[in-house]
Amino acid sequence: MSGDFFSSTPITQLRGIGAAQAEKFARLGVRTLQDVLFHLPYRYQDRTRITPIGAARDGDEVLIQGRVLIADVVIRKRRSFICRIEDGTGQISLRFFHFSASQVKQLEAGVIVRCYGEVRLTGLGKEMAHPEYRVLDNPDVPIEAALTPLYPATEGLQQGSLRRISDQVLALLGKAQQVAELLPVDALHQAQWPSLTEALLYVHRPPPDAPVQALLEGRHRAQQRLALEELTAHNLSLLKLRDRVKRQNAVALPNSSALEQQLIASLPFKPTNAQQRVHQELGADLAQPHPMLRLVQGDVGAGKTLVAARAALLAIDAGYQVALMAPTEILAEQHYHAFLEWYEPLGIRVAWLAGKLKGKKRNEQLALIETGTAQMVVGTHALFQEEVKYRNLALVIIDEQHRFGVHQRLALKQKGEASGIAPHQLIMTATPIPRTLAMSAYADLDTSIIDELPPGRTPVKTVVIENQRRNEVIARVRNACREGRQVYWVCTLIEESEQLEAQAAEDTAAQLQMVLPDVKIGLVHGRLKPAEKADIMDRFKQAELQVLVATTVIEVGVNVPNASVMIIENPERLGLAQLHQLRGRVGRGATESFCVLLYQQPLSKQGRERLDIMRQTNDGFVIAEKDLELRGPGEVLGTRQTGDLNFRIADLQRDALLLDDAKALAQWLRQKSPQQVEPLIQRWLGRADQYGEV
Ligand code: ADP
Ligand code: MG
Repeated sequence: MSGDFFSSTPITQLRGIGAAQAEKFARLGVRTLQDVLFHLPYRYQDRTRITPIGAARDGDEVLIQGRVLIADVVIRKRRSFICRIEDGTGQISLRFFHFSASQVKQLEAGVIVRCYGEVRLTGLGKEMAHPEYRVLDNPDVPIEAALTPLYPATEGLQQGSLRRISDQVLALLGKAQQVAELLPVDALHQAQWPSLTEALLYVHRPPPDAPVQALLEGRHRAQQRLALEELTAHNLSLLKLRDRVKRQNAVALPNSSALEQQLIASLPFKPTNAQQRVHQELGADLAQPHPMLRLVQGDVGAGKTLVAARAALLAIDAGYQVALMAPTEILAEQHYHAFLEWYEPLGIRVAWLAGKLKGKKRNEQLALIETGTAQMVVGTHALFQEEVKYRNLALVIIDEQHRFGVHQRLALKQKGEASGIAPHQLIMTATPIPRTLAMSAYADLDTSIIDELPPGRTPVKTVVIENQRRNEVIARVRNACREGRQVYWVCTLIEESEQLEAQAAEDTAAQLQMVLPDVKIGLVHGRLKPAEKADIMDRFKQAELQVLVATTVIEVGVNVPNASVMIIENPERLGLAQLHQLRGRVGRGATESFCVLLYQQPLSKQGRERLDIMRQTNDGFVIAEKDLELRGPGEVLGTRQTGDLNFRIADLQRDALLLDDAKALAQWLRQKSPQQVEPLIQRWLGRADQYGEV
């Protein structure tokens, strides 16, 4: 901790903050005066002007003022108090479900009220439910001069208390005390950033002449100055985590292995140059006596599994255990089968663990793992439960990292530590991580890229067709089958319900069978037993089935090169990355492949744009960047990851241009001013510096 005034003074020194209050503030992470300064408004309300009622639209949050026409307590479904006001341009009803007798009395016909709230357009006209309001003695009572800040609040701590406490601390700021500037002053000066004090004062209490739009959008220089500092702090926090891991001991593995050579010799193909290069990068990391932390990115079908299998053999051949974790049961199962196929001929035992596995079978697998009989362990997040004990775990492989948070990754790492060594970590992702995120959420990882697909793949041609033309698409399927091609027909649902999704697929299969009586149609979905699923997949692989109707379960792992047509129903419901994954199931053979995105009207403008991107490119990186642009990082990374991306003021997407600077500042601080690093992390991440704590 730096010893300056703000960071070393507890809020209990302030007027009106006793122990009980302090405890509530602590729930918001606010303990010191510095915490108050960095408890920033998350948005602003504009109460600087009165909106004519006639001009207020549905959804607007506005300040209005008018005279009460009538006010009455009505009992329809629920008792409510309705007060109708007008201002010469229109009328609006204020509606209260909770109200007191004195409120009813106060808001009688004729009085002038000023209120703030959200306008809703209902069947009965404009309405504002539970607005904040004030009865005025005369219509000219002055309005707020500046934007009203809104702070993250908690139960028992409302905006009023938050504003009062920040008033007190802001009064100290810049007068009696300076808040410590932790970024290099020269660099800030050169880029003409406002000082930290200026920026904080501005953001907490925007002056009356502040540019409203810029502030509402978070693009004001004062906000950007703080965002830059926050991004720098996050970067430093991740680098700190990295340092911590890197300081631990790991087993230095030999970078060649007889088993690994045997595997390569047994394959019906040769590794691509890219696979070869990445294998060497991994080998060099694994030969170090400190844990590897490496992310392998590679587009769908680039052959990441083989790269992982080869790296694992370096550890297994040296007598160690390896664990591979995948985010879903289906994906884990696919990996399990790939590893069985490759490893069994080499005499290596592969264990399997998932939440579904229970009782005796589970205990068997646990024993295989604990005794080290199984050198390779494949599974879902069940792999890091308490009861799983590893033996000489030297390498942890995590597939589809974007679905896990940093925490889960670390949880598995700790498993290794329990057995005395810190394992190496290999993270693989098929959803290319856009550069912007790679520099923030993934700053702790080294990166390798498999930037080449195995030979013999042909780019997929994608068309976007409206569901009204379903018959044409079905005719196309009929033709494709006549030509000896095979077809995937993928059904999607919004609800995360396996059952509903399975039902939709069943209905579609039945419907297709009716119009295509001569075509052999199979059906797979998540509700089938593994053996049933495997059987259907196998018959499709053997070309006994021509059309496979499926849910998104086939998103990963499925490999049938002769399947060259894919129809995706309601593609607008899926993320671009997921669509890209699905589409990656075709285009695996020499014939030209097609993907039909069969969408349902009405399609929003953004929905249209998203599908167009799929039509325009097969490049997973371009798709991921666009996806991020359209949807924001939270959705792209999945909800789990967003927990790690909880910024106070920065926004990865909006502030992408600051990321380079933040990274440079972080480097500079680490080298030139390391004593500032910890205070900066504390200031922005505080107790939430979870990365460092694990
Ligand atoms: P992803 O990178 O999407 O995980 P996979 O590892 O599932 O890709 O590989 C896709 C398919 O390509 C698998 O059937 C795999 O056996 C095959 N494959 C991997 N490497 C090569 C290669 N060098 N040449 C030909 N096929 C390969
Ligand atoms: Mg894969």
